[in-house]
Amino acid sequence: MKKALICGISGQDGAYLAQLLLNQGYSVCGTSRDAQISSFQNLIHLGIREQVKLESMALTDFRSVLQVLTKIQPDEIYNLAGQSSVGLSFGQPVETLESIATGTLNLLEAVRFLGKRIKLYNAGSSECFGDTGSIAADENTPFRPRSPYAVAKATAFWEVANYREAYGLFACSGILFNHESPLRPERFVTQKIVATACRIAQGSTEQLYLGNMQIQRDWGWAPEYIEAMYLMLQQQHPDDYVIATGESTSLEDFVAAAFASVNLDWQEHTVIDNSLLRPTDLAVGRGNPAKAANNLGWQAKYKMKDVVQMMVEARLAKS
Ligand code: NDP
Repeated sequence: MKKALICGISGQDGAYLAQLLLNQGYSVCGTSRDAQISSFQNLIHLGIREQVKLESMALTDFRSVLQVLTKIQPDEIYNLAGQSSVGLSFGQPVETLESIATGTLNLLEAVRFLGKRIKLYNAGSSECFGDTGSIAADENTPFRPRSPYAVAKATAFWEVANYREAYGLFACSGILFNHESPLRPERFVTQKIVATACRIAQGSTEQLYLGNMQIQRDWGWAPEYIEAMYLMLQQQHPDDYVIATGESTSLEDFVAAAFASVNLDWQEHTVIDNSLLRPTDLAVGRGNPAKAANNLGWQAKYKMKDVVQMMVEARLAKS
């Protein structure tokens, strides 16, 4: 039985990945900064809380990382932990950089130190590209990060590439574009939109406050993006891959789709709030997933409108 270690198992991707790996027959262990107090709601939601082993691990503490790796002896490690919000990274730049860049470096060092053939997946981000404009970014597109989060993710990306090249580690970065699901917390704009639209449809008189609605993003469905992470570690050679739908739409289109799916006109319920604008933002994010299609046989089936529909249905079913 293969053993997988998922760092950041309490998050959206961690929970879906745990489910996928359990279905593949893996023994799954997951980490949280404090496994004693974390509620693991996402694992409970998916009905797999009792099937995974949980450990406390602080990625920024090398001793803690080494201790968990030595105890669990994983065949595969998926690093999904770290401060994951672009917006929050402007307010917590140091925490963001340390949890992502130092955290990834500690994992790479621990794998190198142990000298075992452990495969490592690292959660990279499309935010590293900065504004892609109308040309979809691929694995050769230069990084122009425009937030503390993106700077940290770019650093971690090059750490992974360097350890692969210098020490022959089987380490991959997935450069994932935005992927959403009912497990997204409300501090992410997509869930905020869906949750607010559903509450208004159920009688709430609140308004939806948003910053720049003209930004365009390439939004996909988290459960299928998880499959790409798994596939990267099943290849003969480690490599980096862009994972995206290949289609971008504006935030306004996302809002319109969410309100339309509960039979409301978004314009009657949405207010622009300039205090929500970021110091720097990306106008357009668009990815080219051709390499993933060719090498991994991976392709996104669900596009923005499907994602909105599935998130709205899940929200309404909950209330
Ligand atoms: P989540 O925020 O849902 O989960 C991230 C996990 O990391 C949390 O469960 C938390 O675990 C841990 N974490 C949070 N803050 C910190 C911190 N300051 N220091 C250390 N650990 C922390 O993220 P997702 O599941 O959505 O994303 C997984 C990974 O993929 C992240 O690295 C994210 O940046 C990246 N990514 C996500 C994209 C998306 O669209 N979802 C797009 C591109 C990249 P605990 O509290 O239990 O310790």
